[in-house]
Amino acid sequence: MNKLLRVITGAILCLSTSHVFAAGGMVKGPNEIAPDRYVYYPGTEVLDKDEVRVIACGTGMPDSRRGQASACFLFEFGNGEKIIFDIGTGSMRNINALMIPAEFLTKVFLSHLHTDHWGDLDALWAGGWTAGRPVPLEVWGPSGQSKEMGTAHAIEGFLQAFNWDYQTRAYKITPLPGQITVHEFDYKAVNEIIYDRNGIVVRSIPAIHAGDGPVSFIIEYAGLKLVFGGDTSPNKWFVEHAKGADFAIHEAFATPEFFVTEYNQAPQLAWRACCEFHTSGPAFGKIMSTIKPRHAVSYHSFVEAFPELRAGIRETYDGPLSIAEDMMVWNITKDKVVERMAVSTDRARGVPGPTPQPPPDESYPDQMSDFIKQGEWGPGFNAQNNMLDEHAKKYNLQDQDWRKQKPWYEPRK
Ligand SMILES: [Zn+2]
Ligand SMILES: [Zn+2]
Repeated sequence: MNKLLRVITGAILCLSTSHVFAAGGMVKGPNEIAPDRYVYYPGTEVLDKDEVRVIACGTGMPDSRRGQASACFLFEFGNGEKIIFDIGTGSMRNINALMIPAEFLTKVFLSHLHTDHWGDLDALWAGGWTAGRPVPLEVWGPSGQSKEMGTAHAIEGFLQAFNWDYQTRAYKITPLPGQITVHEFDYKAVNEIIYDRNGIVVRSIPAIHAGDGPVSFIIEYAGLKLVFGGDTSPNKWFVEHAKGADFAIHEAFATPEFFVTEYNQAPQLAWRACCEFHTSGPAFGKIMSTIKPRHAVSYHSFVEAFPELRAGIRETYDGPLSIAEDMMVWNITKDKVVERMAVSTDRARGVPGPTPQPPPDESYPDQMSDFIKQGEWGPGFNAQNNMLDEHAKKYNLQDQDWRKQKPWYEPRK
């Protein structure tokens, strides 16, 4: 009998007849705790060294919505490393809800440069900077057919577009966290290593999607093989190199009929979008029944379309499956894959980490002219003096009192 046990939220799939799991376990009395809940409370669980936790921080479409952000999966490894695979529009709301100190979220791998896979890089970049990240971000992404279609060009343009943000934040806070180190790799690389640090290896394989450039990633850690598939139609590289994976994520689109009746798409576009540019349910199922992962995960579909999507997948695949929605969590070890939902707050705030941010760089140019500064209205500023005097006293800031340089400053008697 297979020793692997896979616990699935709601319905429990148990491959061993000798084990029966009740969701939540028995609660022995009205004032007793439940022995288990199939939920994950972020920040309350230390991973085993050989364990990986994957959190779906975006599973939807390019028009991200409040209940479903665009593509994003956070991988947390037992050795403490965290890597974000795609960071689609809206996904930082979910990442922030996990309340992970910004200094631990510095590595981003991009499968391709559609906004629904990297549109929230700005929120990680600037938000993490404000929340205390002490170091630059690092971004890995594919090249393109020309220099202008590659990740390095995209990040260069990103920093140009956000130059005002960079310059003002660099002066007010500190410049270093605003830098981005880019690692561009060949999109044609087939199963070549693009990352090898601290026991984590990431390989890239080409994907087929909208133009040259998109890739998928194979991640190896502690004897586990995990796959993050970016947007792609069924392709030979995925089938060959994702084979036998412990955990395989691949996109799966809603049916063409759903796109026509529920999404206002023209029928001629609908059957190409789902099934030529992307991967449909039956095609996803065929891929998974061929590669036979220990656990398969689909994403990139509307939650409302899941029943039809599931039916489509089940035409061609009967193995372990999650149809991912935002904040779904998997803990992966050699023995089992456990699926849960994260329970998180809508009002998470930045959480401090152990490393302080570098101090402000005094040599950095002030981006505000005297013309603007002379518009400061003294009575408004002086109205805060009670509060600011208390703050200065509490934190011993008398030597750094910024008000003393101001022509309007009227110290309290
Ligand atoms: Zn795409
Ligand atoms: Zn996409």
